[in-house]
Amino acid sequence: MLTPSIRERLESQIRGRVVYGEPLDKYTSFGIGGPADIMVFPEGAADVRAALRLCREEGVPYLVLGGGSNLLVRDGGFRGVVLHLEGVFTQLNVEGNRVWAGAGVRLSRLVAFCSKLALSGVECLAGVPGTVGGAVRGNAGAFGGSIADHLVAVRLLTSEGDEHVFSRDRMEFSYRRSSLPEGCVILEAAFDLEQGDTGEIRRRISANLVQRNRGQPVEWRSAGSVFKNPPGEYAGRLVEKVGLKGVRVGGACISPKHGNFIINLGGATATDILALIDLMQRQVREKMQVELELEVRVVGED
Ligand SMILES: Cc1cc2nc3c(=O)[nH]c(=O)nc-3n(C[C@H](O)[C@H](O)[C@H](O)COP(=O)(O)OP(=O)(O)OC[C@H]3O[C@@H](n4cnc5c(N)ncnc54)[C@H](O)[C@@H]3O)c2cc1C
Repeated sequence: MLTPSIRERLESQIRGRVVYGEPLDKYTSFGIGGPADIMVFPEGAADVRAALRLCREEGVPYLVLGGGSNLLVRDGGFRGVVLHLEGVFTQLNVEGNRVWAGAGVRLSRLVAFCSKLALSGVECLAGVPGTVGGAVRGNAGAFGGSIADHLVAVRLLTSEGDEHVFSRDRMEFSYRRSSLPEGCVILEAAFDLEQGDTGEIRRRISANLVQRNRGQPVEWRSAGSVFKNPPGEYAGRLVEKVGLKGVRVGGACISPKHGNFIINLGGATATDILALIDLMQRQVREKMQVELELEVRVVGED
């Protein structure tokens, strides 16, 4: 499927590195994932646009990769082009109470930047790994808030490579979901924040971090919550009720600390993780009559 033509065309049309057979475990918080056929490290929007157009013309699938903290890449890797966005689009600009953040900005940096300016509204994201782009795509959130709460605009490229600015009224967000076009690449997002008190903001951030460190196995590699919480329930509590906490398959384990986290104890494969996912879904379905829906995105080949 990957013709010499797409290689040549990518290399000639794109600024930035193009590498072949790059192992994706280096780029995921699970530390798991087989190789990508082609991995592109674009230097700017023009490179992303060119890559999207080439993939379209050549019929090659692509995957947008931010911080890799919500992804399980299967052991066979990804057949197609991975667009690596972390490290590009890292600009942070402020005009009054409005902050424009590049898609590659780490959430921790966004939270610290806003706190320094006494701008309140993103504290709930303290401790959430990953980038602004990945967080907007999946409407990341915690402690009753989410990134969509103060989001007012998103600049993106469609899968055709066309650039648009979506204002808030053109986007819908719900629990861990956004209505942004399938296959789009988010370049930048704007947030209208509230003027607050730096001390108060810092206190909220610390409280969130303390609670996160107390309740989550942050010392282990994971991809955060494996499943979305079903309405009125917690996925972790259901997994605990069916007695699966601490269960291991290969190098993977359902965290004894939090039933909705699968952790990599070292050397876990995607196959191990998927076996645990299947076990959790089956037992919760059979014993609790609840269908657990994945929050983690699973990509790639077995
Ligand atoms: C310890 C731990 C704790 C976590 N806690 C939370 C939490 O409290 N709340 C929460 O919501 N999540 C949490 N997560 C999950 C994860 O951090 C978030 O989902 C985060 O927003 C993912 O961002 P990312 O940049 O890593 O995205 P990736 O994992 O790289 O990608 C996730 C999805 O977004 C897409 N994507 C990434 N960047 C872009 C872009 N620029 N344009 C278009 N699409 C893009 C990818 O194609 C993929 O479909 C946690 C993860 C870990 C490891």
